[in-house]
Amino acid sequence: MPRPLRTAIVGAGPAGIYAADALRKSAAASDPGVSIDLFERMPAPFGLIRYGVAPDHPRIKGIVSALHQVLDKPQIRLFGNVDYPGDISLDELHEFYDAV
Ligand SMILES: Cc1cc2nc3c(=O)[nH]c(=O)nc-3n(C[C@H](O)[C@H](O)[C@H](O)COP(=O)(O)OP(=O)(O)OC[C@H]3O[C@@H](n4cnc5c(N)ncnc54)[C@H](O)[C@@H]3O)c2cc1C
Repeated sequence: MPRPLRTAIVGAGPAGIYAADALRKSAAASDPGVSIDLFERMPAPFGLIRYGVAPDHPRIKGIVSALHQVLDKPQIRLFGNVDYPGDISLDELHEFYDAV
């Protein structure tokens, strides 16, 4: 039985999340599509948007809601507190994913 293309992305900042969304959209018309796992070393996503941008930049902080919608998609999973390559090696990623 065909299975989705398994993809791993390291880092759940804006770049990683937008990459996941672009991949999801580009695979939307294909069957069985794609599954995407994001590995993030911090306990929570959004990278410097969360940890770097000051609260007095509400327009930039607002990007979080768009990123949040991407993470809500069923094809996308987030694994926090996972450091690459400390917790997961490139060999392991290649073993379990079609693309990294
Ligand atoms: C103080 C400050 C103010 C800013 N203000 C603005 C602003 O006003 N307007 C604006 O447009 N931009 C601003 N920026 C820039 C904006 O934050 C960045 O452009 C954006 O966050 C970059 O996204 P990114 O996904 O490339 O990287 P990051 O946001 O750095 O995300 C990378 C993610 O990957 C994770 N990661 C990295 N390496 C690993 C690893 N080996 N294993 C697992 N996880 C990993 C990190 O923990 C992080 O969550 C500001 C940045 C800072 C620091």
